[in-house]
Amino acid sequence: MKICKKCILTDAYPGLSFNEEETCSLCSSYHVFEPFGEDKLIRIIEDAKARKKGEYDALVPLSGGKDSMYILYLAVRVYNLKVLTMTYDNGFTSQLAVTNMDRAVEKMKVNHIVCKPESEVLKRIYKNMLLRSGDICGACGIAIRAHMFKVAHDHGIPIILLGTSPLEEDSFLPDTTQDIGRFKHIMREDRCITKKEMNDFLVYPDMNYFKLSFGKRTGSFAKEVCPLFYVKNPSDREMGELIAKELDWKDDTGREYSKHFDCIAEPFTNYVRYHIYGYERRMCQYSTMVRRGEITREKASGLYKSDHIMDKPANYQDVLDMLNIDEKDMEGVLKIKPLKYERYVSKANKLFIKLMKFVKK
Ligand SMILES: [Zn+2]
Repeated sequence: MKICKKCILTDAYPGLSFNEEETCSLCSSYHVFEPFGEDKLIRIIEDAKARKKGEYDALVPLSGGKDSMYILYLAVRVYNLKVLTMTYDNGFTSQLAVTNMDRAVEKMKVNHIVCKPESEVLKRIYKNMLLRSGDICGACGIAIRAHMFKVAHDHGIPIILLGTSPLEEDSFLPDTTQDIGRFKHIMREDRCITKKEMNDFLVYPDMNYFKLSFGKRTGSFAKEVCPLFYVKNPSDREMGELIAKELDWKDDTGREYSKHFDCIAEPFTNYVRYHIYGYERRMCQYSTMVRRGEITREKASGLYKSDHIMDKPANYQDVLDMLNIDEKDMEGVLKIKPLKYERYVSKANKLFIKLMKFVKK
């Protein structure tokens, strides 16, 4: 196994190559991220205010994690926006994330909508996705995104402010787990849910990138804006300190770097991912932090070791119980081949991505 001399990625990461100095291709092609500029963000915000059809300027989806909390703070306190917040309850939201959200919403004096799908259907979907593809995050991502657009549409909100940061780039490559065509194919294979249940879960069952892009242009869908790509990003630690002070946000175990503890299934999904692919989200995130100069390689190594990704997480059995699966099912899951369903991704989406690459060139 090859390990990069600069970050902690290994050759298990799909498509990664190494040069003579044993540096990985992501490190050797890395350049310091230059934010697009706050003036551009302000222009987008002003434009959105002029286009709103209801009382709110922006929708801020909350997960209970750091990034979305920071965005809420920026939107309300820095850019003085009239904000609506929303959360998709995927059944795995940690209690701490729930109380963090409640406190933040109260402090910022904003309204908060919680979308709660039928939990029994949700479990069947997750179980089927896990047993067949080894991934549940993709299905969850599809549903979260669809609900965001729905809430924004219902309230006439022109923009959705997301906590996605440049730090998260490259954390889950290269399979397209959030593809709706792939999702539908897997669901149909098992027939575990009815057509109505699937349509309710997807909200927009016939969505593709062309329709979404057209809808955003014509104003029937809100535009997604990631403020952390426009302004200078605080480090993970600075962000944590700020939201602790301003939103009364609390960390779980006092861990210095704890992304995604808002979802209690996250360690489980990393564990599965590690055993199928040999890499997972944390390895990528720590590596990006090293590249950005936030932590040293030694620190990243130490943090990664202390995460014990390859071992069953502490709440492993709880997650299995929630998904109604057993150890025997898990043996099958860990043997799933990477990229098993890639050829079932939506043809329209594939074409759209190709076109976008061409346009960019
Ligand atoms: Zn590297």
